[in-house]
Amino acid sequence: MKRKIIHHQVLKVGITGGIGSGKTTACKMFEQLGIPVYYADERAKFLMQHEHYLIDEIKKNFGEDVYENGKLNRKILADKVFNNKPLLMILNSLVHPAVFHDNERWAEEQRVKLVPYILKEAALLIESGSSKKLDKLIVVTAPLDLRMKRVSERDQVSTEEVMARVRNQISEAKKIRLADFVIRNNKDTAYLQKQVEKIHQSLLESVR
Ligand code: ATP
Repeated sequence: MKRKIIHHQVLKVGITGGIGSGKTTACKMFEQLGIPVYYADERAKFLMQHEHYLIDEIKKNFGEDVYENGKLNRKILADKVFNNKPLLMILNSLVHPAVFHDNERWAEEQRVKLVPYILKEAALLIESGSSKKLDKLIVVTAPLDLRMKRVSERDQVSTEEVMARVRNQISEAKKIRLADFVIRNNKDTAYLQKQVEKIHQSLLESVR
C-alpha cells in the first residue's frame, strides 16, 4: 500500500494478520528491538471495561446485563452479536473510534522517546479501516492449517472454533495485496526473527 509518509509525526506502522499468524510473537521481537507496540485488541478489552463513555454506549445498545457488578460479561455480549451482523456493526462503530483515539493519545506519548517508528497491532486492522491512517503496513501470514494448529494448542479450543473466527476476517491474499511488508511465518521462530530484523532495518532506513 503506497501512503504518504507524514514526517512531522513519528512513523506509524500497522501490523496485522489472520488469527494465529504470529502477530503477537512478531511484535514481541520488535519490542526487543526497542520499538513500542500498541496492542489494539487488548486495549479494546481494557477500554470496554474502563472508558465510561464507551461503557454507557454499550449498555444503551446491548442492555445493562452485559455488565455484571461493573464487569463486562464478554460471553453475554458475544452471544448477542454472534450471527447478528447489524449488532456487530454497532459494536464495532463504538469500539473502533474509542481505540483509535486511545491509540492517538498513546502515539503522542511515544514522541518523547524519540523512537524511529511505532507499531499498532490488531487482527482487524484492515477491516476496521484504521490501516488507512497508518504510514506502513506489515502483514504476517502462515498457512491456514498451521495457524489452526498453533491457535488450538495455544487457546485449548477446537479447530472448528478457530475456523469460526477465521470467517470474520478478510482473506490472506487481500491483506497481502495491501501490505508494504509481508512476513511469512511458516517455519521456526528463528526464521520469523530474521524477517522482523530485515523489516526493522528497512524501516530505519526509511526514516533516516
Ligand atoms: P491471534 O490473532 O489469535 O491474537 P497471533 O497472530 O497474535 O494470534 P501468536 O499468538 O503470535 O499469533 O501465535 C499463535 C501461536 O503460535 C502462539 O502460541 C505462538 O507461540 C505460536 N507461534 C507463532 N509463531 C510460531 C513459529 N514460527 N513457530 C512455532 N510456533 C509459533
